[in-house]
Amino acid sequence: MTPKSMIPYGKQDINDDDINAVIDVLKSDFITQGPKVPEFEQAIAKQCQANFAIATNSATSALHIACLALGVSKGDTLWTSPISFVASSNCALYCGAKVDFVDIDIATGNLSASALRTKLEVAKKTNTLPKAIIVVHLAGNPCDMQQINALSEQYNFAVIEDASHAVGASYKNSMVGSCLYSDITIFSFHPVKIITSAEGGMALTNCPELENKMRLFRSHGITSDEAQMTEKSHGPWYYQQITLGFNYRMTELQAALGVSQSQRLTDFVEKRNELAKIYDRAFADTSIVCLTPNSDNYSAYHLYIVLLPTMSKALHKNVISSLRDKNICAHVHYIPIHLQPYYQKLGFKQGDFPFAEEYYQRAISLPLYPKLTLDEQGYIIDSVKAELTTLAQ
Ligand SMILES: *Cc1c(COP(=O)(O)O)cnc(C)c1O
Repeated sequence: MTPKSMIPYGKQDINDDDINAVIDVLKSDFITQGPKVPEFEQAIAKQCQANFAIATNSATSALHIACLALGVSKGDTLWTSPISFVASSNCALYCGAKVDFVDIDIATGNLSASALRTKLEVAKKTNTLPKAIIVVHLAGNPCDMQQINALSEQYNFAVIEDASHAVGASYKNSMVGSCLYSDITIFSFHPVKIITSAEGGMALTNCPELENKMRLFRSHGITSDEAQMTEKSHGPWYYQQITLGFNYRMTELQAALGVSQSQRLTDFVEKRNELAKIYDRAFADTSIVCLTPNSDNYSAYHLYIVLLPTMSKALHKNVISSLRDKNICAHVHYIPIHLQPYYQKLGFKQGDFPFAEEYYQRAISLPLYPKLTLDEQGYIIDSVKAELTTLAQ
């Protein structure tokens, strides 16, 4: 039976502890720049075994300050995956740098390490090596970080992990966020992501210089640390602006929600994995292809993505529309960034990244979030199977 309201593709899970944590802040002396932001930073740094974490008002801001801290600027090029949210590449443009893309591996939707190797070989010959690359752990499934890290050492570029989908995921037994294979890792706490602070993001690193720079860029380029000043402090009120920064700070309200949510991170990710396994089993004997993590990865399963057996714009659209008619909010993550009008104006065109383009015509994100009930999931599975039967006719 069709549910009364649309089953969303993702949804936050807020409990009374979360609500009370926010109310406590409202009753306290500080609603911004108090103790909750550092508490949230330390909680996430500890969970991910990273040395430093810098909270921001969004992952988009965190990506921007990460690029700035790595010195990405005019004359540089940054590479990323065409299958991501536009923020993964816009951050390079904010810095005045150029963007290019590396095609995906269609089995995972992640940036392909072998396509990266090939592109680097060519770029070395033409002297167009990237300053940095941003890898995106699509759906929460970590990229091939060992290979990417080895290439970064060979060709001397920085690596940012856009782990907006992958809070709570692990790669070869190390937490995503540990920055074992990268310079900086970015998390998003937007409500559809794994844990939420309403809006919010975080940048993690093990490098003290990068930490210091990102803190400066987050807060106007201002420091109160005398060691960083150009002259002796004038007194306890004194601060100096030593670079051009932004106001990318997170509020105490957001941080309190984040701290409270972070206590349930493990449970959320376990629940997402349980539900994903049910989908996996249900579709195992069908023509649908499930994006599955490598066996040495533990995905955070931000999304459950399936690929239709054949590439057809019309069929893809029909399947998604008819699921939506049944109140299942099937979605597509993502429209290839290089095909966005803004990026086409920069010179990208259809045909540039064929696997990303094929993926776009086959991929469907099905609802997945901790509060999805087994009844709802059963209904989704039956509806998808019914679509496949129609497709086969
Ligand atoms: C959500 C998301 C972002 C942006 O996160 P915000 O916190 O909304 O700024 C960036 N990259 C990816 C891959 C995302 O999914």
